[in-house]
Amino acid sequence: MGDYTYGPVPSRRLGRSLGVDLVPLKTCNFNCIYCQLGPTPQTTVERRDYVPVEAVVEDVRRRLEGCPRPDYITLAGSGEPTLLSHFGEVASGIRRFSDVPLALLTNGALFFRPEVRAECDALDLVLPSLDAGDEETFQRINRPHPGLTLEKVAEGLVALREEFEGQVWLEVFIVDGVNSSDQQIGRIRSFVDRIDPHRVQVNNPVRPTAEAFLSGPPSDRLHEICAMLGPRAEIIAPAATVELTADATAHKEEVLALLLRRPCTLEDIVTGLGIHRNEVIKHVQALLDADAIRRRQRLYETYYEAAG
Ligand code: SF4
Repeated sequence: MGDYTYGPVPSRRLGRSLGVDLVPLKTCNFNCIYCQLGPTPQTTVERRDYVPVEAVVEDVRRRLEGCPRPDYITLAGSGEPTLLSHFGEVASGIRRFSDVPLALLTNGALFFRPEVRAECDALDLVLPSLDAGDEETFQRINRPHPGLTLEKVAEGLVALREEFEGQVWLEVFIVDGVNSSDQQIGRIRSFVDRIDPHRVQVNNPVRPTAEAFLSGPPSDRLHEICAMLGPRAEIIAPAATVELTADATAHKEEVLALLLRRPCTLEDIVTGLGIHRNEVIKHVQALLDADAIRRRQRLYETYYEAAG
């Protein structure tokens, strides 16, 4: 199979999702403290032809032929997918042969540009993020490219919601002690009211993140936060509740077999098994949820090892 698709993988937000990788690791305009892909070496806002559109579309077509119908085809990637100059052409190319709903997983930071919003025409669902109630917290949690401001991002999301005909599900990622105070949540709620998304999905760190030792708030506080974010807010269900496909399970067993032999970092698993990093993250999380493996911190590296 080609280099641009992975899965279908079990997604906490989208069920069985066929991922489409539109940018190389790790191309992003943010450097979020909670990023599961590790630190961004250098943030960028330059939109470029990072991958060849026709090859990506052909890869999706072939992958769809060989797998059960996914719930979504998700434009995402090892960074921020809207940095691909013509990501809309990938969506319209897939639309020519598939009626599987098309989603875009994005930080939403570039929607203040009309041409980026216009690329969303062929999509059914856009899933942007908004994690901060003020500029200082935005800088602290998302560590954006210079020139991106919270107000600019919010204005872009308001415009997207007005123009885009599909669904908009806004993710709010809560990190305990960073954006979890009543004051922050109250301000985020003001943005939610302005943007008016169809859903608000509350997330928190459950996987290894760019900065170690981050955690989500205790469960009862997370529920309070969810209530404060309004009637459309929901907490994203744990990954363990998402059923794995037969294909994903096979890969999960391979990950476990490797970890039974030796403790590995995520990169070790990616290299060792030759599967996509995002797919490895899903399997590692499922194995952690099932208590089949455990995480161990050694100096600056996170290792995974078989439990028991
Ligand atoms: S926007 Fe996404 S890919 Fe970029 S740093 Fe944040 S979490 Fe990572």
